[in-house]
Amino acid sequence: MYGKIKQDLKNTLEELKEQGLYKSERIITSSQSSDISVSTGESVLNFCANNYLGLANNPEVVKAAQDIMNEWGFGLSSVRFICGTQQIHKQLEEKVSKFLGTEDTILYCACFDANGGVFEPLLGDDSAIISDELNHASIIDGVRLCKAQRFRYKHSNMEELEQCLNDSADAKYRIIVTDGVFSMDGDLAKLPEIVALAEKYDALFMVDDSHATGYIGKTGRGTAEHFDVLGKIDIITTTFGKAMGGGNGGCTSGRKEIIDMLRQRSRPYLFSNTLAPATVGATLKVIDMLSGSDQLPAKTMANANHFRTKMEAAGFDLVKGDTAIVPVMIYDEPLAVKFADELLKEGVYVIGFCFPVVPRGKARIRVQLSAAHTAEQIDKAVEAFIKVGKQLEIIS
Ligand SMILES: *Cc1c(COP(=O)(O)O)cnc(C)c1O
Repeated sequence: MYGKIKQDLKNTLEELKEQGLYKSERIITSSQSSDISVSTGESVLNFCANNYLGLANNPEVVKAAQDIMNEWGFGLSSVRFICGTQQIHKQLEEKVSKFLGTEDTILYCACFDANGGVFEPLLGDDSAIISDELNHASIIDGVRLCKAQRFRYKHSNMEELEQCLNDSADAKYRIIVTDGVFSMDGDLAKLPEIVALAEKYDALFMVDDSHATGYIGKTGRGTAEHFDVLGKIDIITTTFGKAMGGGNGGCTSGRKEIIDMLRQRSRPYLFSNTLAPATVGATLKVIDMLSGSDQLPAKTMANANHFRTKMEAAGFDLVKGDTAIVPVMIYDEPLAVKFADELLKEGVYVIGFCFPVVPRGKARIRVQLSAAHTAEQIDKAVEAFIKVGKQLEIIS
């Protein structure tokens, strides 16, 4: 039986390799950090993790995960509604609600699940979902699992969004959905404008703040804090797998009745295991650290600004922005791949992003800054960029 599909799979895998689209994984032999070891034995500076607050190997966070396991065990062997809800799960939901300024929160094992399970319980075929064209794959999949009508607007194009709102006027309920921070350009969604449109057209508003929660906004509460629209977003989904310690887990947070309905009907919540206590303990700790001081998000942004300033002075073409994602534009695809390879030889780990992840001819090196980077590490990375940039004649 396997014979025919085996050959087809082999052929397709070969094609992927020929097209340069085959993803191989570099093996890290240390914990996640600003400075990592790779399987060749070298130590490299890491500028491609979503570890925005540098908490992925923070000793306090690791200890919180260990301590909570001593008391609450390793796993629950259950979904939440059978016997998978411990006090710590309720504590985390309350803490996240308080942190995000929302009424209630439901936990998922990943934000992918949160997005996969958010639309179908709330919207039927008489309703409409209006989505930014660059929204994350998990939002796209969540929309596919739901029978609502679909509308898509050009990235952050408010005229097209308004047109979608007009076109969907017959729908019973409408929801506008956007990423808070878009991962490829590091740009922020236009929250104030979208809030105004949602109010004008009586639509719901959902933001996926996965690339924002923990470090965007003065105290890390995300894009709603950055734009001063806390409380105006009906649904926030986010991950604990990026700035918030980088393990896994995620949530949907927002209006009380919405969250309550998700507990009744959201399939990834009902039919998938509860969050492991270690994840809960670490995330509780991260929120405590953020609630006590705004030092960590400030450090992340100071590092991003330091990198931006030096790279611009060196003549690199950066996508402007207010986040810790700094795309260095190379434009040419093979050149971007070569640039990243040469940087690795200089001890700087970054990734070149090419079509189809970004538009053709818009290849780039995406640099992500973290609170864990030191000024020396950033300076060293900039020096490597300058050396390779001159070598490849990208700067003079
Ligand atoms: C990373 C990411 C996700 C997925 O989060 P997981 O918790 O890893 O599943 C969802 N949405 C956006 C916008 C993301 O950046």
